[in-house]
Amino acid sequence: MKIISNPIKLKNYLKTIDKTIGFIPTMGALHEGHLTLIREAKKENDFIVVSIFVNPTQFSADEDLDKYPRRDDADKKICELAGVDILFFPHVDDIYSEDEVSISSPNIRGYVLEGFTRPSHFNGVLTVVNKLLNIVNPSRAYFGKKDAQQLNLIELMVKQLFMNVEIVAVNTVRDVDGLALSSRNIYLSKEQRNKALLIPNSLNLASNLIKNGELNSKNIIQKMRDFLDDLEILYIEILDREFNQIKNVKLKDTIILVEVKVANTRLLDNLWL
Ligand code: AMP
Repeated sequence: MKIISNPIKLKNYLKTIDKTIGFIPTMGALHEGHLTLIREAKKENDFIVVSIFVNPTQFSADEDLDKYPRRDDADKKICELAGVDILFFPHVDDIYSEDEVSISSPNIRGYVLEGFTRPSHFNGVLTVVNKLLNIVNPSRAYFGKKDAQQLNLIELMVKQLFMNVEIVAVNTVRDVDGLALSSRNIYLSKEQRNKALLIPNSLNLASNLIKNGELNSKNIIQKMRDFLDDLEILYIEILDREFNQIKNVKLKDTIILVEVKVANTRLLDNLWL
């Protein structure tokens, strides 16, 4: 496995590769969720590039950029063992300069849900993903469904900016207890983690309600709210795959999204129906 930090060097190197490239952008502290993205990419591409870059522009001043978990040595080993061909490990100065061109997220879809409480977040996400896709120029790029709004906005950017990459969505990987894997889970104490388990359980509750015939979004959301009463709920929404609010659940065209805060840790989860 080659480790490259310079974007131009990587770009030039990849130009000499006549293979399908699968790309997995990450912020490191790799876990089984990231590894699943890598495995999916290996099934469909001949050459695998992973990036590790904790992108400062998607954090606001009061967020956890400095505290964000970094496990560089372990991550390098994990990538090597997973059969990654290139690990792109840029420094902030390799990616950003002082006076920057940037991408703005759409005025509506970028400012609801997570974008409501983190108004500049998706500008930063889309800007960095745009840069990374331009550097790597992959055939396919892999993103987790856990970050459903991020995935939706990246798909929108690729479509609206006529970009040449296929975006592949990968199912959420969970721990044995049901909690969606996230690099931020290490912030949780044992007690907080137990509380956090209410999140996947609230989605199971919704799933059971739907199986028993309850399709009304308002009723389902209310029951989930009651269930999550002990936690600070940032939002619970029932949307179609285009991210429009819907009055009734439509099978195969619905996502139930939840974000809560446990102590200072934001936790996202969702259910794709
Ligand atoms: P991150 O390092 O948190 O920015 O995540 C990098 C990529 O991995 C994103 O596309 C995430 O959606 C995806 N990802 C993170 N956690 C999971 C998970 N538990 N299951 C599947 N994909 C995930």
